[in-house]
Amino acid sequence: MPTLPDSSDPSKSFNCREMLQKILDGEATTEQQQQFKIHMAECMPCYKGYELEMAIKMLLQKKCNGNGAPPDLIEKIKNQISQITPH
Ligand SMILES: [Zn+2]
Repeated sequence: MPTLPDSSDPSKSFNCREMLQKILDGEATTEQQQQFKIHMAECMPCYKGYELEMAIKMLLQKKCNGNGAPPDLIEKIKNQISQITPH
């Protein structure tokens, strides 16, 4: 895993989607988590994406505990994510 290049324009060397996925999968290093936190403060799509993914995880956890998360609510959140992180 190469370290991020020390660029004068960090926004270009930083792959938002890739990093967000790593964070959410728990594959990011502590250093990467720190970088992402700093980045997230300035990058609304990352911030929103992170918040929404966490909301989904919470819902799924609740479902596992037997409380049940409405599937339409999960779909709604997923739709929001696809809107802010275009493929
Ligand atoms: Zn970003």
